[in-house]
Amino acid sequence: MKRVFIRTFGCQMNEYDSERMLTLLKGEYIPCAEPKEADLILVNTCSVRKKAEEKVYGLVGRLKHLKKQRPELIIGVCGCVAQQEGEKILKRLPHVDLVLGPQAVYRLREALEKVRAGEGPVVDTEFRKDFRQPLILPELDGDRPVKAFVTIMQGCDNFCAYCVVPYTRGREISRPPEDILAEVECLVRQGVREVTLLGQNVNSYGRKEKGFPSFAELLREVAAIPGLWRVRFTTSHPKDLDEDLMRCFAEVPEVCEHLHLPVQAGSDRVLKRMHRRYTKEEYLAKVRRLREICPEIALTTDIIVGFPGETEEDFAETLRLLEEVRFDEIFSFKYSDRPLARSTQFEDKVPEEEKARRLSLVHQVQERITRETNESYLGREVEVLVEGKSPGNPSLWTGRTRTNHVVNFSGPEDLKGKLVHVLIEGCGQHSLRGRMLDSQ
Ligand code: SF4
Repeated sequence: MKRVFIRTFGCQMNEYDSERMLTLLKGEYIPCAEPKEADLILVNTCSVRKKAEEKVYGLVGRLKHLKKQRPELIIGVCGCVAQQEGEKILKRLPHVDLVLGPQAVYRLREALEKVRAGEGPVVDTEFRKDFRQPLILPELDGDRPVKAFVTIMQGCDNFCAYCVVPYTRGREISRPPEDILAEVECLVRQGVREVTLLGQNVNSYGRKEKGFPSFAELLREVAAIPGLWRVRFTTSHPKDLDEDLMRCFAEVPEVCEHLHLPVQAGSDRVLKRMHRRYTKEEYLAKVRRLREICPEIALTTDIIVGFPGETEEDFAETLRLLEEVRFDEIFSFKYSDRPLARSTQFEDKVPEEEKARRLSLVHQVQERITRETNESYLGREVEVLVEGKSPGNPSLWTGRTRTNHVVNFSGPEDLKGKLVHVLIEGCGQHSLRGRMLDSQ
């Protein structure tokens, strides 16, 4: 059996695509831990942040010596950087054999055959018009996971000014519901108890396809699969979050009470320039309605600081929004120019040191809010789906609450995959600690 090494950068969609590539290679390749042991090296890339892109070039550049020692070694660059750069990758890194965009990773076997037949290097960055492709059902081995991701759509039609996704992942296409349900059923048969439905904008699932369910309808169908205990989804665009979907949090027991709802900025002027197509008040109105429907819902978000033209007053609006919503957690970034993104052309850039100052202020505010939110769990009993031993302390079990908080606790052996009740007795910045009460 040959060996494959896969390194994945970026989001959960990339993690998912890497898993599907491994499934496609089954029977011919087994995974290995080091590039030097591999017959095939695949680097699945992300171009959302400049740093990730630079890391990819660094890593693939360093593989040159392996190719020199073993010319039969096949090296592939996949994902968003592959899509964005295409043939340019071969100019910069002539030892690369495969350049596969995010939609082409599903054509990996055909591309490998071409390389072996001497027809390489292969560059495949073609976008498809639909998501109808052979169903690749996951096969989980060894240490079977309790939770899994399932892609329900690809691409995005929103063209936010700072974002490269519509260019690197293409226009939005939704996956047929029967394929999604078949994949979730397959995962559940293999012991998975929680799935996260993935897409760049899951709320607009099915809108462009005739006869497809809405996202809320799909969510209800997935949740009804016997043996599946929990369902999550990401990412949601605030403009497309509707009442039907909000009601799922209250009406469908399997849908976990957590929503990642990226706001990006608190100023209407900046939101407009970002082309987000909602105002701060519209965002806040949706948050209020969500909390009416499901008071226990936990909210998380993304924030970009220092978008071109962001003034001190615009930035103050973002800080006020953080105080008003009190997100459980945020993912915050300094704005950076990305090739292809429209805002790269904007001239009124915020200086680097000012962006760093604003990011640090955002961190300070949110760290306090997150700490206070975590402290509010003290003395409460929560349901935890046990994922395995804590990576930081193997004597403890780890899992997540329905609201997506990490909980570490001690307990008897064989808890993996079980739902347990834990009394929260302590907390840190990123996790809760507790005492197990019982298991189901
Ligand atoms: S919604 Fe905006 S930020 Fe999200 S993937 Fe689409 S274009 Fe990018």
